[in-house]
Amino acid sequence: MPRVANPLTKVRKRLEACCFAEIHFKNLPKDKDKVMDPDKHRNLYRTRFPIQRETVPAADEALDIACERLGLDRTLVHGFVDNNPKIGASCYAGIRGNAVVLMTSGAIERFTIPEMTYVFGHELGHYILPDRGLIGQLPDGMPSSMEDAILHRKLEISMDRFGMVACQDFKVAAVAFMKLNSGLGAQHITDDVVSYAKEAIRGYVEDHSEYIDEAYSTHPSLYARIRALSHYSESEEFLKLIGKKGGKPQAEVDAEVEKDLHATLDYYAGRLMDDVIGAVNNHLAAAQVHFEGKCELGRYAFNPKFKPDEDVIRAIVGEIQEKPAEKRDEDVYLRLSNLIRQSVLRCPYRMHQHLEVLLPRLADTKFNETAQKFAKGFKDSLIKHRSGERI
Ligand SMILES: [Zn+2]
Repeated sequence: MPRVANPLTKVRKRLEACCFAEIHFKNLPKDKDKVMDPDKHRNLYRTRFPIQRETVPAADEALDIACERLGLDRTLVHGFVDNNPKIGASCYAGIRGNAVVLMTSGAIERFTIPEMTYVFGHELGHYILPDRGLIGQLPDGMPSSMEDAILHRKLEISMDRFGMVACQDFKVAAVAFMKLNSGLGAQHITDDVVSYAKEAIRGYVEDHSEYIDEAYSTHPSLYARIRALSHYSESEEFLKLIGKKGGKPQAEVDAEVEKDLHATLDYYAGRLMDDVIGAVNNHLAAAQVHFEGKCELGRYAFNPKFKPDEDVIRAIVGEIQEKPAEKRDEDVYLRLSNLIRQSVLRCPYRMHQHLEVLLPRLADTKFNETAQKFAKGFKDSLIKHRSGERI
C-alpha cells in the first residue's frame, strides 16, 4: 500500500507555538496517530445527534471555521450534540484517524458562533496534541498523581491556545469561558472581562494551604486560563498565525504564564510534593540508623532542596525507640509504606528521579537491601495505583 502522508504533520508544524510547557509535538509517541478503529464512533450516530448544516447550522458553521483556521480536514472531524442542558464540550478519546467532538445542547443554545468556534478549537486541540502515554492516568481517565494533574493543567493551557487560533479573538474566548463557568446565556452576562478578573483575584490568597483540593484538578482555574489567554493573545507567534505583525516573543509570554501558574495553584502543589521527597530522605536515613545503628548523612545530601535534617532524623529514631522492641521494625516499614503511598499519589516522577540518584549512593551499605525494597515497593504501588487498585 502506498504511504499516505499524515494530514496532521503540516498542521502541527504550523501550530507549534500553541504547545505550552512539557507536552509538545516533539515528544508525542510514535504511534500517536495510528488508525486503530476509525469507525469506532459509528455508535454516536445512533446514540447522539450529529451536527450537520441542514439540522444544526450554527454549530456546523463554527466547526467548519475552527477546522479551516486550524488547518484540519473537515471530513476527518465528526461533531455531535450531547443532549445536556449544562454548558460543556468534549473530544472523544481513543479514536485515532478521526476527530470526534461533542458539544452540549446547553452550550449550543447559549454560545454565539465565534464562541462555539473557540470551544471547538480547544476540543480539536486534544486531537491535534493527544496526551496518550504522556500523562499518568487512572482507569477513569483522571490524572494518577498531583504531578500528572499539573501536566494536565498545562496541557489545557495549550488547548486554549488552539481555541484562540480557531476564534482569533481574546474577548470572544474570555466571554465563552465566562458563560461556561457561570452557565449563563447572553441575556444575563456581559463581556466585561476586566471586572470579572478584578473580582476573581480575591480568591487568590497568600495562604497556599487553601489550594490543597485543587492541586489534583485537571483544569486550571478560569481566572488563570483567562490570564494565560490574554498573555498568548499578545504573542508574536499568535499574531503571525492570524495574519498580524508585532507582539511579544513567545518565550517571554510562556514565562509570564508559568509565573502566573506558579504564583497560584502549582506553587502549593510543588510544596506538597517537595515535602514528600524531603520526608522520604529523612525517614530512610532514620531507618538506616535503626537497622545499622548509624548513617552517613552525606549520602542523602545530594540535592540542596532535600537536605537531610539531623534533628528531624533524631526525632524519628526517638519515636521508633519508644515502641516495644518487637514492634520497632514494623513501625519503620509502616512509616516507609505510608511515604510510598504519598509519593505515588503526589510525585511519582520526582520520586523516581530521587531514588535513581540515592540508591547507588547506598549500594555499599548494609541498608542497601532495605533501600532496594523501598524502591521496589514504590514501583509496585505505582503500577497498582495506575491500574485502579487501591494502595
Ligand atoms: Zn480540554
